[in-house]
Amino acid sequence: MADKLNRTDNPGANRYIDTRGACAEPVPFTRAVVDGLAQGGGLYVPEELPRLSLADIEALAELPYAQRAARAYELFNVDLPDERIAELMGRSYGSNFDDEAIAPIVSLGEGTHVLELWHGPTSAFKDMALQCLPQFFSASARELRERGELDHEFCILVATSGDTGKAALEGFKGVEGVRIGVLFPDGGVSDIQRKQMVTTTGGNVQVWAVRGNFDDCQTGVKRVFGDEAFAAELMEGCSVALSSANSINWGRLMPQIVYYISSYAELVRAGKLEAGRLLDVCVPTGNFGNILAAWYAKQMGTPIGTLLCASNENRVLADFIGTGIYDIAERGFVLTPSPSMDILVSSNLERQLFELTGRDAGAIRGWMADLSEKGRFEVDEATLAKLQEGFKGGSVSNEECLATIKAVLDEHGYLIDPHTAVAYAIAQRQRGDNPVLVASTAHWAKFGDNVYRALHGIAPGAPLPEDVAALTGCELNALIARETGQGFIPAGLAQLDELPVRFTEVIDRDEAAIEAAVEEMLRR
Ligand SMILES: *Cc1c(COP(=O)(O)O)cnc(C)c1O
Repeated sequence: MADKLNRTDNPGANRYIDTRGACAEPVPFTRAVVDGLAQGGGLYVPEELPRLSLADIEALAELPYAQRAARAYELFNVDLPDERIAELMGRSYGSNFDDEAIAPIVSLGEGTHVLELWHGPTSAFKDMALQCLPQFFSASARELRERGELDHEFCILVATSGDTGKAALEGFKGVEGVRIGVLFPDGGVSDIQRKQMVTTTGGNVQVWAVRGNFDDCQTGVKRVFGDEAFAAELMEGCSVALSSANSINWGRLMPQIVYYISSYAELVRAGKLEAGRLLDVCVPTGNFGNILAAWYAKQMGTPIGTLLCASNENRVLADFIGTGIYDIAERGFVLTPSPSMDILVSSNLERQLFELTGRDAGAIRGWMADLSEKGRFEVDEATLAKLQEGFKGGSVSNEECLATIKAVLDEHGYLIDPHTAVAYAIAQRQRGDNPVLVASTAHWAKFGDNVYRALHGIAPGAPLPEDVAALTGCELNALIARETGQGFIPAGLAQLDELPVRFTEVIDRDEAAIEAAVEEMLRR
């Protein structure tokens, strides 16, 4: 492997090791991105982290966002030529975003800064990573093909409960060497989310509704991934390997580090933060990807103080930070107004624990085995102390979430979505003396029904009035915009009722039905 690396343009390239210590050799960035998951089930992390000085960070504020991102990738010594990285970043963060700043910051009162991460094509923060990852996935595959280390194309399969599927479709549409198929539960996503997916353009995309719930979709897709005979058939017949673009891919995490470094620079430039002063960061957390990115930004030299981990009623992470015990054995899954955080197993936590233990792969193997066998693991005292030194956790009830939306609108004339509201509530409740950056992860119009409940004092989960329930998602958003004077609805959401529906197929949830659908897509 080492001599192969030397054949690239970038002999000093940073390499990636895995959290379970199963890979014999570290791999380059390109390999980590196309593999996603490491052999042995571990996650890739960079062997070394680049360091930035305060002056380096401040200098980023002079560059457009795409160049800030390119600079960060160059610091990691990604094994692709610098010109190529700059070109891909230009494509990732350009006119596909509806704000030139890409991730603008809105300040609400003294020392509370809201980082808007939803200006991408699907109006959720997943775009920050999923506009970028596909570009690097395709370029990495091409690079590996040129080095003679890869000889096939890819088919990405995604099971979605709503947000991720559309962000992945938008990111991968039109990308060379990749097809993408998305499965969502028939009747299990909102009107807006369904329309976002079934109206996607592009020749390499496919969307299926599945007769079943989200769990059925996910289980079905996992079984397809586990079917070796099917994988061999696809490789032989179509020269295609299945892959998943989920949030454990390092190529999804890295773009998220960029906006934390960039935000710090931006606040200093705007005169809202004294250079060198600590900034706390509060993140509405599900899979632990977004908050882990903030932790990496801190490790790289960004003056970040406490990381506030905001949970909804699925409070497994808040409890873990309090006790060192991660326990899902006895825990029910709660439906909340912030569905993208309704998660029990936070897959990126594995990376965080690997780092906090000083990269102890043996400890990680033990804890992950306990989690899969007993539904529970407990970290040692030293690791718990490290965790509590860097993080504070908190959880927000469904009622408090909706009340926060109303309170922020009344106080600041600013409308937030339920995920952002969870973070905002924790930031207010648990902040210390430092200014705080609140990650805003979705535009409110993606979750209009719960925003309507918040504004009208309707309890979480209670039915909407009949005339409101009869509206399409777009009509409901227009009503909320009129009532609140919040006129801006992203074009991608406002026009959904007018777009032609391209995908209407409903398939069964079993493995055979999904495999047949995939084969048909690949034959087309
Ligand atoms: C995915 C998502 C989250 C959770 O982010 P993680 O990186 O999984 O912790 C929060 N809010 C929204 C709107 C999301 O789509």
